[in-house]
Amino acid sequence: MAKFLPPEAFADAAASLSLLPFNFERTGPDSYLVANLVGDFVRLTDDELNRVVDLKLRPGDELYERAYAAHLVTNEGQRSQRQLLALRLRSRMSFLRQVTPLHIFVVTLRCEHSCPYCQVSRQSTDRSRFDMSEETAFRSLNVAFASPSSRIKIEFQGGEPLLNFPLIQKIVLAAKDRSERSGKGVDFVIASNLALLNDEVLEFCRSNGILLSTSLDGPADLHNQNRPRPGGNSHALAVKGIGRAREILGSDRVGALMTTTEASLDRVDDIIDEYLRVGLDGIFLRPLSPFGFAIKTKQYHRYDVAKWLAFYERGLRRILEINRNGTPFREFYAALILTRMLTDQPIGYVDLRSPSGIGIGALVYNYDGSVFASDEGRMLAEAGDNAFRLGHVDQDDYRSLILSDPLVDAISQSLTQCAPECSTCVFESHCGADPVYHHATQGDALGIKPLSAFCARQKGIMTLILDILHNSPEDAAILRRWAGS
Ligand code: SF4
Repeated sequence: MAKFLPPEAFADAAASLSLLPFNFERTGPDSYLVANLVGDFVRLTDDELNRVVDLKLRPGDELYERAYAAHLVTNEGQRSQRQLLALRLRSRMSFLRQVTPLHIFVVTLRCEHSCPYCQVSRQSTDRSRFDMSEETAFRSLNVAFASPSSRIKIEFQGGEPLLNFPLIQKIVLAAKDRSERSGKGVDFVIASNLALLNDEVLEFCRSNGILLSTSLDGPADLHNQNRPRPGGNSHALAVKGIGRAREILGSDRVGALMTTTEASLDRVDDIIDEYLRVGLDGIFLRPLSPFGFAIKTKQYHRYDVAKWLAFYERGLRRILEINRNGTPFREFYAALILTRMLTDQPIGYVDLRSPSGIGIGALVYNYDGSVFASDEGRMLAEAGDNAFRLGHVDQDDYRSLILSDPLVDAISQSLTQCAPECSTCVFESHCGADPVYHHATQGDALGIKPLSAFCARQKGIMTLILDILHNSPEDAAILRRWAGS
């Protein structure tokens, strides 16, 4: 007698389909960009998106196969897709396993530069008032070494930190000693304008494995206009310092950052050429931030996000041209976003993580012992706004700082996964939260994203990168090489 399969084996296959979470955005009259739970993108027409949403698909359809491969639909009872998405999500969020890896020591607020865009409200006088004391430094080290991260980075900032170099030396030696005793790894960075760099500093950096990070805003005329100092020689000193540091410490032991002022907007080619001339292997095209002297001197309001995005696009396309002509050179922010888009590697970079990196990514110890959730939070406090001041090293320990109300409140508001606008945004998986920026510009840590320049910038950069990946195969190959690098 012939055997028949049970009746349910003949049920409509589509009846057992279900949707997986995804976000989408219209990109044209008949086209949508769709992103799955971990941010893999697929482009669908209006009709295709409607068919996916209505589950008008059947296994074996071309559209079903695409939607299944993109993790937009699954079969009920099939766990493998959900498990795969969960694994990938866990890997992408694994930056949370290293809690507070970065500790910023503001060893002095004094500076011999007087940059109008300065974000930290530097001071020029009164050594005793604006330098960190040894006692405050060692209390700060107690907090830093109590953080759970198995490896920490101590970054020295100012003002100009080399104005208090003797304290840097004491902190480095004490931290290395604690590192040996505790087994917790420690790395060091000095963020300096390099004007005071000398052989003693270089030798100390070399023998203690200290990295240098500096500012280079472009060719001499632009850099010196942006970064005035007595003698008008900031650029010459920075370039000389970069050269000496590359020679003594190694070419990969010194990096530079630029800040975009109004005067930079039509100079991006010159700025990139200057980085190449100095021998640097990439550039981080950065906008101004709304803090410190940048607000007082009204620098921050001199250009809007549209002008900055035009500057960024011209710069990125110029960098791709340089690569096509045979010289490897990267734009570092694009490289971070590409790593988010094309790999599942965790990214700790503050603008590209949710929950936000304030406190749980970095703590800032100000010269007077106050502790802040981020460098920008400290900059706000210099202007009288203590919203992100978590406590003081004289009264607090790591636990009381990290569990303080201002930090817990701000972090709980920072989750893009559930924030209005972000939770349905097609770029959510690759974006992040910046509660300090939104507090500073909108008076609200969560922020109203349609009015946010941070959001407009993120969307603009990601749209540009996706456009290049989609439409320019030669440039796409270059961009793919930057992912995870
Ligand atoms: S900040 Fe803007 S771009 Fe980023 S996830 Fe939110 S809505 Fe999207």
